[in-house]
Amino acid sequence: MSKKLLVVEDSKPIAGVIKQIAESLKYEVTVAASLADVEQILQGDNKFFAATIDYSLPDANDGEAIPFVLSHGIPGVVLTGKMDEPTRQKILAQPVIDYIPKENSQAFLYLKRILHWQLTNSQNGILVVDDSASARNHIVELLKRRNFSVYVADNGSKALEVLKQNNNIKLIITDLEMPTMDGIELTNEVRKTYNRDQLAIIGISGANNGVHSARFIKNGADDFLRKPFCPEEFYCRITQNIENLNNIEQIQKAANTDYLTELPNRRSFFNQGEQHINKYRQKEVPFALAMIDIDFFKKVNDSYGHEAGDHILKVVALYLRKHFRNGLLARLGGEEFAILCPGIDEDQLYNKLDDLRRDLAVAQIVYNQQHIPFTISIGVNFNGEGSLAQQLNQADNALYSAKENGRNQVATENSDHD
Ligand code: GH3
Ligand code: MG
Ligand code: MG
Ligand code: MG
Repeated sequence: MSKKLLVVEDSKPIAGVIKQIAESLKYEVTVAASLADVEQILQGDNKFFAATIDYSLPDANDGEAIPFVLSHGIPGVVLTGKMDEPTRQKILAQPVIDYIPKENSQAFLYLKRILHWQLTNSQNGILVVDDSASARNHIVELLKRRNFSVYVADNGSKALEVLKQNNNIKLIITDLEMPTMDGIELTNEVRKTYNRDQLAIIGISGANNGVHSARFIKNGADDFLRKPFCPEEFYCRITQNIENLNNIEQIQKAANTDYLTELPNRRSFFNQGEQHINKYRQKEVPFALAMIDIDFFKKVNDSYGHEAGDHILKVVALYLRKHFRNGLLARLGGEEFAILCPGIDEDQLYNKLDDLRRDLAVAQIVYNQQHIPFTISIGVNFNGEGSLAQQLNQADNALYSAKENGRNQVATENSDHD
């Protein structure tokens, strides 16, 4: 569902730009051109997710709209043409999401990032560890303004518990001196399980001593903040660390995903497959490893074009997902796919694969107004022994038999039965 954004701005062109940016992020925008407008809009039962607030309005030229909007519980970003220090101080003394000087087009790019973060930050968990309730609450308040999912602990050992229970935590902000387990010990402990690609740590300390920042970093922290800090610096550090982690996550995802079908690729299948097999063996759950190859795919390309071929590959991926929700799927390359999945017994697994085959054989796939009939062949290996590569080899042998015997069929190659 789209979130509502209140744009308080008297300049029509600027309001237009902000509206366009916000709508590109799927916000539903309401524009108010004056404080009187704002008052009227907020009288209605409009529930706004956030607001952008122009500092000077015709009927409120000294930032009066800011406290008015904030007092309605709407988090706001302030945009201002005024660049002087007293104005900046005045804005930052209020609980705003951020303030943006309207100097140039960079301002709007930054606004776009802010509005994007506001929508997505709830996916990012942040754990605040401090024994002082007031220090903790201050940080929590800053983070909540930015919609982060916030967790708290008042010492290191409690923090470890909270971390274990919440796998969306991406960042820990920890004080240095705490009873039971201090910030350095906590950092040390956390780094035994989570590397810096998975979780960021920012140390904080009020001690007026440069040694602490170095100690934090040497023990595995990514950054350091000295108390008291200003909200601007705080937010910069937080977003930088979170963005870093999200970038790494995206790169890792791209490296493990097939770009066309968005299924895991061969690399990912090999990385994860072995673990899945070990789990099935431990729990004595029957499993199947199947290789799928589209029949006469070259002819599909030749008759209907390469794009149609790509479409068929996506369709196969879709059917795989539909039929095997709890399995590990992959596009191994070209028109070859793999399935590793648990089941009740060999018969049931065989039937599931045959259902997939039949479903595709009768599917009426249309691309560019042309009906494209095609079939798949499947080679399967049940409860295989040896490595994933060895099992995949056996499935490939079975696939070869399926092709030899006329395609559009499931063939098994079970070492136990040979
Ligand atoms: P068989 O039934 O024996 O498997 O015959 P086939 O034509 O499917 O097998 P072959 O290995 O001769 O041809 C595979 C074709 O798959 C050739 C290649 O152009 C096509 N192909 C591989 N990757 C892609 C892709 O990403 N998109 C498209 N459209 N075609 C692809
Ligand atoms: Mg104005
Ligand atoms: Mg092939
Ligand atoms: Mg083929």
